[in-house]
Amino acid sequence: MIDLRSDTVTTPDDAMREAAGDAEVGDDVYGEDPTVNELEARAADLVGMEDALYVPTGTMGNQIAVRTHTDRGQEILVERESHVIKWELGGLAQLSNLQVRTLDGGARGIPTPEQVRDGFVEEDLHRPGTGLLSLENSHNSKGGVAISPEKIDAAAEAAHDDGVPVHLDGARVCNAAVAHDVSPARMVENVDSVMFCLSKGLGAPVGSMVAGSEEFIARARRVRKLFGGGMRQAGVIAAPGLLALENVERLADDHDNARTLAERLAEIEGLDVQDPETNIVLVNTEGADLTADGFLDACEDAGVLGTPFDTHVARFCTHWDVDHEDVVAAAERVGEAVES
Ligand SMILES: *Cc1c(COP(=O)(O)O)cnc(C)c1O
Repeated sequence: MIDLRSDTVTTPDDAMREAAGDAEVGDDVYGEDPTVNELEARAADLVGMEDALYVPTGTMGNQIAVRTHTDRGQEILVERESHVIKWELGGLAQLSNLQVRTLDGGARGIPTPEQVRDGFVEEDLHRPGTGLLSLENSHNSKGGVAISPEKIDAAAEAAHDDGVPVHLDGARVCNAAVAHDVSPARMVENVDSVMFCLSKGLGAPVGSMVAGSEEFIARARRVRKLFGGGMRQAGVIAAPGLLALENVERLADDHDNARTLAERLAEIEGLDVQDPETNIVLVNTEGADLTADGFLDACEDAGVLGTPFDTHVARFCTHWDVDHEDVVAAAERVGEAVES
């Protein structure tokens, strides 16, 4: 089976398993786990922020950041297809008591500065006030689109002009940075906080990072405890995370493989394939008279796994457990499945 459902399906290699076994540990709630402390320092360096916090998942990281930035009853500005409202169980309402105002970021999922300005609500006797702008890069639902640092800057500056802080859901921000040939730090230069996943293309078995100012992370640490994310001898899982931080450049291989996969899939009659910018390939199946579910069932029978994204859209995701030969083979099998 060639598993292209997500870049989260990778399993840790021998080096990561050894690092886990050898990790020096302590109680991280007391701040005494040296491996977690090192991971937080190095993750902060990678994104050019003062401090970082190790969290179990990307979802928890986003929700911690949102809660830390906002007050109950405020509005949050989010792109309408963003992960924080689509795939996080309404956590913005459930965990932070926010009212959501969505912006349509178009084909690339990035609101313009004008949209941000128009979406801003000034607090007064009748209006709740805008507490946060949340952006996403790469944009998952739009097909792993890598938004340029300038576009992120422009949206962030518009929010800052109104005194609104900016969070970036950067689950795959390293993919976006590699695609634009800039450092992850440049990507997040003008936002106030970023969440990024160690457990996706970077290959760690568990964990994500939230980064921001020292003052912000000190407050986020209390919210992590509140949300039940204070872990004890977490060095065991943080040690593979340290190795994951070395895998940023490797993401270029995933992007190459995604391009190869997309080119081959585009040759199949009836499939409309979006040009990938990172490691995500979106395939529209309507021309083959198939729903995404029907298409993926046929793919599975042929030995390839993907994820349904919309009625007629399926997602394939490349990662470090698949190589060039695998994606070539995957496209062949998909071709047989669709044409049979
Ligand atoms: C995967 C993902 C998350 C959440 O990460 P989990 O570790 O699965 O909770 C958040 N945002 C985006 C854009 C993602 O792709």
